[in-house]
Amino acid sequence: MRLAGKVCIVTGAGRGIGKATAIKFAQEGARVAVCDVTPEWVDDTVREIRQTDGEAVGFIVDVRNRASIERMVKEMVAMYGRIDCLVNNAGIVRDAQLKNMTDEQFDQVIEINLKGVYNCTKAVVEAMLPQQSGVILTTSSVVGLYGNFGQTNYAASKSAVIGMTKTWARELGRSGIRANAVCPGFIQTPILSTVPERVLAAMEQKVPLGRLGKPEEIAATFAFLASDEASYINGAVIEVSGGMSL
Ligand code: NAP
Repeated sequence: MRLAGKVCIVTGAGRGIGKATAIKFAQEGARVAVCDVTPEWVDDTVREIRQTDGEAVGFIVDVRNRASIERMVKEMVAMYGRIDCLVNNAGIVRDAQLKNMTDEQFDQVIEINLKGVYNCTKAVVEAMLPQQSGVILTTSSVVGLYGNFGQTNYAASKSAVIGMTKTWARELGRSGIRANAVCPGFIQTPILSTVPERVLAAMEQKVPLGRLGKPEEIAATFAFLASDEASYINGAVIEVSGGMSL
């Protein structure tokens, strides 16, 4: 088991990529903090992990709310004495073309996808610095690399987390803390529920593998990056998209 005994936090772990990541980490032996805003989904993920003898603790955490993050970090450190990995995964979309985008749509996405990553990382790094080790993983997107029609706000947030990741890789490397970003392509999760069928079909056509990705395929990448097998990977931005940008 690649993450045996490691203490890991996954945000947005109630559904989609975050849920698959929490489950994968637990299968690899990690003790996982399952964080999300919706209590039923937190419970679902925790139950699924425990059903297969995995170790998980649920927390209602809104990544916009520093107090809820700090409470969760404090409780994890009190329970396990350390934090080995944070997966910044919580994210939303509020799509509109620039000419129609409202300030509210722009701010909502920045507040969760960008400021939320800053909030969580700041709180977790405080616990990692004294132990001189840790891994910060952040979910960016191919949209952060190449832009996307109707996603000014989302592209801004997903490019920005790449900048933060590279900065943390420089600032924290000598303290034994690695920081990396993963850029998923189009992955079958509830976040795609608002995308029309014909657009999804066109996306599939663009992917050399001829299909959308599965949450488990992103979870597997995170598990590798969180493990000691990735001990020399720092400041990397890894695209997991079936080759869609080729
Ligand atoms: P998802 O199924 O919608 O899951 C996102 C989770 O984050 C949901 O459980 C959501 O809860 C939670 N969340 C939303 N706002 C939150 C907040 N303020 N605090 C804590 N949790 C919050 O989406 P997904 O596809 O798994 O996306 C996960 C990450 O991958 C996101 O960062 C997304 O941008 C990124 N990504 C996804 C794709 C894709 O094609 N699916 C591609 C590239 C990148 P609620 O539903 O209750 O709001």
